[in-house]
Amino acid sequence: MDSEDQPEELVYKGIAASPGVAQGKVYLFLLRELDIPDTEIRPGDMEAEIERFEETLLQTRQEVSKLQNEVAQRLGPGEAQVFDAHLLVLEDRALIEETIRETRESGRNITFCFNRVAQRYIDAFAQMDDEYLRERANDIRDVSRRLLHNLIGDHYYGISQVTGGRVIVARDVSPSDTANIEKGKVLAFVTDAGSKTSHAVIMARSIQVPAVVGMRNCTRMLRNGDNVLVDGYEGLVIVNPTSRTLFRYGKVQEEKRSLEQKMLAQIDRRTKTRDGVRIDLMANIEGPGEIDRLERFGAEGVGLFRTEYLFLNAAEFPSEDEQYEAYRKVAETIAPAPVTVRTLDLGGDKFPSSAFRVETEANPFLGLRAIRFCLEDVALFKTQLRAILRASVHGNVKMMYPMISGVGELDRANGILKEAMGELDADGIPYDRSIRVGAMIEIPSAALTADILAKKCDFFSIGSNDLIQYLLAIDRVNERIAHLYEPTHPAVLRMIHTVVDAAHRQNIKVALCGEIAGDPVLVPLFVGIGIDELSIAVTGLPAIKYIVRNTEHREMVKLTSELLAMEDPREIFAGAEDFYKRHIAHLIA
Ligand code: PEP
Ligand code: MG
Repeated sequence: MDSEDQPEELVYKGIAASPGVAQGKVYLFLLRELDIPDTEIRPGDMEAEIERFEETLLQTRQEVSKLQNEVAQRLGPGEAQVFDAHLLVLEDRALIEETIRETRESGRNITFCFNRVAQRYIDAFAQMDDEYLRERANDIRDVSRRLLHNLIGDHYYGISQVTGGRVIVARDVSPSDTANIEKGKVLAFVTDAGSKTSHAVIMARSIQVPAVVGMRNCTRMLRNGDNVLVDGYEGLVIVNPTSRTLFRYGKVQEEKRSLEQKMLAQIDRRTKTRDGVRIDLMANIEGPGEIDRLERFGAEGVGLFRTEYLFLNAAEFPSEDEQYEAYRKVAETIAPAPVTVRTLDLGGDKFPSSAFRVETEANPFLGLRAIRFCLEDVALFKTQLRAILRASVHGNVKMMYPMISGVGELDRANGILKEAMGELDADGIPYDRSIRVGAMIEIPSAALTADILAKKCDFFSIGSNDLIQYLLAIDRVNERIAHLYEPTHPAVLRMIHTVVDAAHRQNIKVALCGEIAGDPVLVPLFVGIGIDELSIAVTGLPAIKYIVRNTEHREMVKLTSELLAMEDPREIFAGAEDFYKRHIAHLIA
């Protein structure tokens, strides 16, 4: 029984974004304003104050170097370069001398004076015409904050430095935040903003950290140190869970574990429906760090390698050689299984570190994103294409372009690819001459001209995360309209159907690589529509394999023709759910 003085259990609902259950203490990740002390320093104490400053600079430099080494070891040297700029600020004698002079002249404490001097630098850089120099203001701001924390004697924390296993509660997290965390240090994420298809959430799923997002005001409702249980299956955050609740969740986790065992027992079998129709079941990955898990979870290859993650935390563009190494590593390790490398999809909600010149846009998802960005910066694009081509001799490499809106972009991208091939030929560098090149179909204009594109592509991959956002005009990261993001909207189903038809008429295959491809309730509908390949987060593979292997293809086709005739998204979802209950639920109960 719960004791009388047990604090009241409170249950908050958000969006179930990354499955799993975690329990622990809240770490409120807010960039709060620092309390800068303003005191007078007696002349006799001045030298000690300045010495304290020099010592703190040294301590902060050591901290940054340590962090840089850790990141370099975990994610590679490219990702760690961002800290070079921070170290340069900490070694900048002009800034240091100006702080010391101001302290001596004003007789105020060093923390106060450093804050003032740093602020002047930040303002000066922020007003520069040159975008690159303007971005330096961010480096000074970041590292000054760390130094100020040390001067005040207050610890500085970034998400990547949270230790001891905490539930991170934040307004939002960025893809680079999630890309940086180590498993075990963060138990779960709970955020005010975000939706199921925001990239930070996709990343949380791939590193198996439960997440509940779109809570709107969790940063006000929850406090540091609160004991919470996060249910990433149902999207619940339970504050002060009672022993009864914990017992119930203990049982849920036990059941999930035994179910997982049952599914894992089938992972090395091929993915065929019960009546023998083959489906390729592939994994979505964000970097070479994930390849160790592919076999364990039964991936038959990589259907989507989101290469932009190599760029997110890097201070400079990864060089051709660095990229080549990353692509080669994946291709070589999983060969002869295929890897589909997607060319850079920066923009939208994925922005690189401040070292890149990326202009702020009012509508980044409609802006200079993905292939548009690459076609503007041909040198950058060609570097990536050369790296992919060079890696293609080490395995079974395919490549595809994101955000193709029509045949013009496809032609231009292929033109640059041809140039890259010509350069490699001239240099005598080998590559796979028959590399298969596909387009992502994630913009309605591409879907509606799929018959034209199919003539020039070796395959399609439907990016439903974006296709749904652009088709239904629903910002994929806006929690306020997340309930309107409806994969079972008849427009979505018709569009996918159109793409599959156009591709099959041209004898090319179609993959589905958005988040819905890993939804157990919707998978039968997409297999029934004719999708040839499903590409999903690694951890979702065993369940989807189990479902496909234990369901009849002809039943799925029948389901699809029934659902395609319906008008209401909720009715269609209910039809899919009913099928799931009749044909699948008992298999995984
Ligand atoms: C998609 O849009 O569905 C997709 C797979 O790509 P991303 O989520 O990286 O935009
Ligand atoms: Mg996309």
